[in-house]
Amino acid sequence: MGKPTGFLEFTRELPKKRDAQERVHDYKEIEKPYAEEDTQKQAARCMDCGIPFCHNGCPLGNIIPEFNDAVYEQNWDYAYEILASTNNFPEFTGRICPAPCESSCVLGINKPPVAIEFIEKSIAEAAFARGLVQPNHGIKRTGKTVAIVGSGPAGLAAAAQLNKAGHTVTVFERADQIGGLLRYGIPDFKLEKWVIDRRLNVMEAEGVVFKTNTNVGEHIKAKELLTDFDAVLLTGGSTVPRDLPIPGRELKGVHFAMEFLSQQNKRVAERPVEVDHRGVKYANGDILATGKNVVVIGGGDTGSDCVGTSNRHGAKSVTQIELMPMPPAERAESTPWPNWPMMLRTSTSHEEGCERHWSINTKAFIGDENGNLKALRIVDLEWQSVDGKMAMVEVPGSEREIDCELALLAAGFVNPQQEGLLNALELEYERGNVKAVNYQTTPNPKVFAAGDMRRGQSLVVWAISEGREAARAVDTFLMGESQLEAKAKSMFATV
Ligand SMILES: Cc1cc2nc3c(=O)[nH]c(=O)nc-3n(C[C@H](O)[C@H](O)[C@H](O)COP(=O)(O)OP(=O)(O)OC[C@H]3O[C@@H](n4cnc5c(N)ncnc54)[C@H](O)[C@@H]3O)c2cc1C
Ligand code: SF4
Repeated sequence: MGKPTGFLEFTRELPKKRDAQERVHDYKEIEKPYAEEDTQKQAARCMDCGIPFCHNGCPLGNIIPEFNDAVYEQNWDYAYEILASTNNFPEFTGRICPAPCESSCVLGINKPPVAIEFIEKSIAEAAFARGLVQPNHGIKRTGKTVAIVGSGPAGLAAAAQLNKAGHTVTVFERADQIGGLLRYGIPDFKLEKWVIDRRLNVMEAEGVVFKTNTNVGEHIKAKELLTDFDAVLLTGGSTVPRDLPIPGRELKGVHFAMEFLSQQNKRVAERPVEVDHRGVKYANGDILATGKNVVVIGGGDTGSDCVGTSNRHGAKSVTQIELMPMPPAERAESTPWPNWPMMLRTSTSHEEGCERHWSINTKAFIGDENGNLKALRIVDLEWQSVDGKMAMVEVPGSEREIDCELALLAAGFVNPQQEGLLNALELEYERGNVKAVNYQTTPNPKVFAAGDMRRGQSLVVWAISEGREAARAVDTFLMGESQLEAKAKSMFATV
């Protein structure tokens, strides 16, 4: 423990954000740089409590009090060594993780929690700046080959781990660039893409082979993959968006959030937008919010990213509507510490300008004579007892129309795409996701699955965790045992 009185002396502080009016004119990161001495004070707030609940809050089991201590001592090499032992990509999670660890920080019971996510980013950036993140050229090869399908955080974490174990890894990606939703879902203002490229350069130099524009199931048949590789790991994500099949769905101006977001990431990268993030040709042309009344349907993170992107396009107005009631401003009683709290969250995109409404259902999209969207018909909802069960029902007389020329559907993802590769492999499904026991699919022991494709729509930190755990399962399958780190194992662990 760096400074026993740190949590009494220092308050939680995060880097200042760029002014909202300034940042909506670009796609650059929102936080301003922060001095290492200030990070040291934040690390000093860690109490090194007897039972660090934050370990458990983090899906990776990051060994948080130990790296906080190393940061307090300004021993950045050691801090990175600890962090990298459980997390392959702290430069991603340090920027975009919702930080469930902070919700279970013991200091958070009666004071603002330790700024763990930000400390993680600082360690990662300090490590790159000091040249600590270098390719390992001394990996002893096993002669085994592994194909990974999908290059999101799950596929990348698995590739890094399996390569470290000595296997020859090829990552197949159907999009034109590597990164999955890191690349073509999450906007640049949350994660600039040089951050991904910097890591990919290290992985490539270490021997991981990346093949883009390769839709497995189409360009390479499933059977070929099974004969050409000793093991196959599927990390194709949860890519089928939840639709809203109401009257007017076919109108021009109604789009899935991912079409809108991935196009913008392509624009920022100066890549052609005619082909979407799946490698499919766009039927819809450029989707722009400029000068339009935008309504984002869905109150989650994807919706919030649509808000930030619409404001950057110069929308006339941006409104986000959600079916469920407004969450409480503080942690709900149903989710006491150290659980992930159910509560209202306001993102940096919301701060930039957006009207938010809850308990609203969309009944129809209304078009003009040319088939262009011009309004939404919405209705208020409220909880009522129906046949002895609580249900959201329409409030009589509340139906109304709101102007809208661009509606973005951000109601989540249902499951992975089953037709094509997954069906060709004759895999089993559980709630629509690929069924696997310890990441190994039951019909074919040579085929493994991880990330959103296995667990359903989730978070980057969970995808990395799944990729690491699946890599251990694949390594054990190939070698009989695995030396790869188990979750929260190690000399650093205190529980
Ligand atoms: C808009 C948006 C914003 C988000 N923001 C955050 C956030 O801020 N923080 C956070 O923690 N999480 C966020 N998430 C969730 C997070 O991005 C995902 O949980 C995570 O990326 C899942 O990782 P994955 O590796 O399982 O799959 P993905 O990232 O979805 O990657 C799967 C990849 O597989 C490829 N693929 C699929 N099928 C094939 C095939 N047959 N052949 C070749 N390639 C194939 C796909 O093209 C894709 O590139 C966000 C999600 C979205 C949609
Ligand atoms: S990866 Fe996320 S949950 Fe884990 S320590 Fe970092 S910010 Fe916390």
